[in-house]
Amino acid sequence: MKEITCKLLVIGAGPGGYVCAIRAGQLGVDTVIVEMAKPGGTCLNIGCIPSKAIIHAADDFAKTVAMAAGRNAMGIKADNPAIDLAKTMAWKDGITGRLTLGVAGLLKKAGVKIVVGRAKFRDGKTVAVETETGEQVIRAENIVIATGSAPVELPVLPFGASGAKVISSTGALSLTEAPQKLAVVGAGYIGLELGLAFAKLGSKVTIVEALDRILPLYDTQLTQPVGRRLAALGVEVLLGTKVKGLSSNGEALLAETGSGEEKRIAADKILVTVGRKPVTEGWGREELELDMDGRFLRIDEQCRTSMRGIYAVGDVTGEPMLAHRAMAQGEMVAEIVSGKRRSWDKRAIPAVCFTDPEIISVGMSPDEARAASREIKIGQFPFSANGRAMTLSAEEGFVRVVARADNHLVLGIQGVGAGISELSAAFALAIEMGARLEDIAGTIHAHPTQSEAFAESALKALGHALHI
Ligand SMILES: Cc1cc2nc3c(=O)[nH]c(=O)nc-3n(C[C@H](O)[C@H](O)[C@H](O)COP(=O)(O)OP(=O)(O)OC[C@H]3O[C@@H](n4cnc5c(N)ncnc54)[C@H](O)[C@@H]3O)c2cc1C
Repeated sequence: MKEITCKLLVIGAGPGGYVCAIRAGQLGVDTVIVEMAKPGGTCLNIGCIPSKAIIHAADDFAKTVAMAAGRNAMGIKADNPAIDLAKTMAWKDGITGRLTLGVAGLLKKAGVKIVVGRAKFRDGKTVAVETETGEQVIRAENIVIATGSAPVELPVLPFGASGAKVISSTGALSLTEAPQKLAVVGAGYIGLELGLAFAKLGSKVTIVEALDRILPLYDTQLTQPVGRRLAALGVEVLLGTKVKGLSSNGEALLAETGSGEEKRIAADKILVTVGRKPVTEGWGREELELDMDGRFLRIDEQCRTSMRGIYAVGDVTGEPMLAHRAMAQGEMVAEIVSGKRRSWDKRAIPAVCFTDPEIISVGMSPDEARAASREIKIGQFPFSANGRAMTLSAEEGFVRVVARADNHLVLGIQGVGAGISELSAAFALAIEMGARLEDIAGTIHAHPTQSEAFAESALKALGHALHI
């Protein structure tokens, strides 16, 4: 097969890789992208998008079930609600299908050549791709590694064990029936998002977490409303509990509590969500001299690795392993390769848990700000005092603003509440633009919206909230 030469070769068409390739193509850079699965990567195919589709369907179903049970203050009634999960999954697949086709179309429109197959480095400028029609060799001036991440497997609970009882998030996102009993191992955001969704779809869910709290990356004030919702849905949460493996007949999950008590958790499916690991093998790293940063590829503020002409973006480069970080890195690298001067100068990367209620954190938490030896002001405003939240039956939660005490520069914004993910744009913009409390308080926030809680939290930090 003929060799291809190009200025930029991108390995992996997840959000990091495909955004890099699209932007490079737009800038007239001769670009090739290699993908061994589907365009869109984890995010569009088995991650962000499909999980949010299932969460939305589960929410709607749970609301209907509550109506049928007469638990609806608005007076809406429903009879015998049912869900056909196979149809829900088909709807979800339709969304991911449209999006992945869209990505392929955008790549083509930008003039990017797509090669389908597994890429493997031969040396720092050459990659061989196993395609359906044989080997394709690609030589490139610049190469971007965007190979992403994969679920971490527990040696005591390998994926697929006991007749496909043990599943990863990918398996959970293709179930066509809600398991009667679902055990979820790991109470990070993926385990909780999916655990909550399946509880709403009718599964009896038990969550097993080795640490003594859920969502350890967020402070307890933010996670408490999620804990309450889990309890209301009848989800059992076993904290400080370590899984030991499957029972000898494969019917139950065995675990041990912190006090040494043995637990036997009957389960039809066991969803293991104990984290994700960067994909640093399988693409010929051994042919290169790349410095590592723990388990990730080491990069600098321009996403350059330790080898000239080789960049890395996305989950393979570190935390937070989030799609929007990968995209921002990919866009920056494309501009650098095209000759523009860019470097990573972001002030904040928003993080959202699409739990019930949703949690958002942008910038520094109060503890982080204090640890950075700052005198701070905090303003917190509850949704129970927000009119729009009341009309949405979404009074649980709050918005919290953390600012420097001396000049009121906003350092961080956090919140928890139904639909609060959509406020992430306002929060991130405020921090990225260096807003002070007065800027937020002085911006007219449309009424009635949940975003008024943002302005009120800034006013509260300034000592004169209006609606509380
Ligand atoms: C269930 C779930 C929910 C999530 N929800 C969110 C969310 O709500 N918000 C959020 O920001 N993030 C979320 N994430 C994380 C998000 O999906 C990742 O951060 C994001 O996809 C990382 O993008 P990436 O480009 O680095 O890698 P990936 O999306 O993992 O893409 C890497 C691509 O590289 C390809 N590849 C790897 N090796 C090779 C090779 N040798 N040759 C050719 N191709 C190769 C892979 O096939 C893959 O398509 C979620 C993840 C999961 C699993």
